[in-house]
Amino acid sequence: IALPCLQETVSEITEELRGRTDRGEVATYIPELARVDSASFGIAVVDGSGQVAVGGDADVPFSIQSISKVFTLTLALGMAGDRLWQRVGREPSGSRFNSIIQLENERGIPRNPFINAGAIAVTDLILSGHQPREALGEILRFMQFLADDPTIKIDAAVAASELRTGHRNSALAHYMKSFGVLDNPVDHTLGVYFHHCAIAMSCRQLAMASRFLAHLGRNPATGFSVVQPERARRINAVMLTCGHYDGSGDFAYRVGLPGKSGVGGGILAIAPGKASITVWSPGLDESGNSRLGRIALEMLAKRLDLSIFGV
Ligand code: GLN
Repeated sequence: IALPCLQETVSEITEELRGRTDRGEVATYIPELARVDSASFGIAVVDGSGQVAVGGDADVPFSIQSISKVFTLTLALGMAGDRLWQRVGREPSGSRFNSIIQLENERGIPRNPFINAGAIAVTDLILSGHQPREALGEILRFMQFLADDPTIKIDAAVAASELRTGHRNSALAHYMKSFGVLDNPVDHTLGVYFHHCAIAMSCRQLAMASRFLAHLGRNPATGFSVVQPERARRINAVMLTCGHYDGSGDFAYRVGLPGKSGVGGGILAIAPGKASITVWSPGLDESGNSRLGRIALEMLAKRLDLSIFGV
């Protein structure tokens, strides 16, 4: 079904938010991300009829960072099924995205697949039985296939920048390794993790790639099934409860949609049965989630009546 007034609404929101200066701070702990223009603002919405609405910098590629964790979770579930949940939980952490604090109590098992520790454990599972280069190729080809766009690339400068400075992630990985949660050499797992976080995609490409999550596991354009309906529902559930780290409750409260943020300033949001949405504004709030991105989704959900909790 086509969402009514979609392009008008997206254009209005873009107009209202683009010039705002209260947009938060760009992440600097990955030096290469600090070079991004903080005034960038993009939005793309794809509905079930194939209608695509875009605003602002919707076609400018940005670093997807933790948004990649939705797709690595999807791939890992395809490989391991429910066995995945032996090495990672599915409870909100209430802690920062790169926190180590809960790992000790939980014997190295991360709280969920969307915090850094959890995503590193998921990446390690995808890597098992492969060379790092093959595993990374598999992740990249999955993104290209879902978005129907073979031009999607990894930004090597961002990956190298994080590889040089990612001591916190390295600590998380070694700590998990000490509990036997990771199977592969830590530097292999981290190499694949940093590179999939460094995939560069535009709002339009991400909204296209995530169509299957909005439509019971199927690409609505081709009818091709990516995952079973039950799996799509469950991935959305984990996005709703854990997709914004210690800001997940607030995001659900304000927006009412499953969502996944990345420290590059992107947010992927799913309106089940209706649309897949991506917004991008690099300035972040105190939880490391895009500030204007969240506000844009709040406006969009309200104006198009998208919240999963009703009006
Ligand atoms: N690559 C980033 C990191 O590991 C991803 C974090 C994020 O997007 N919140 O720190």
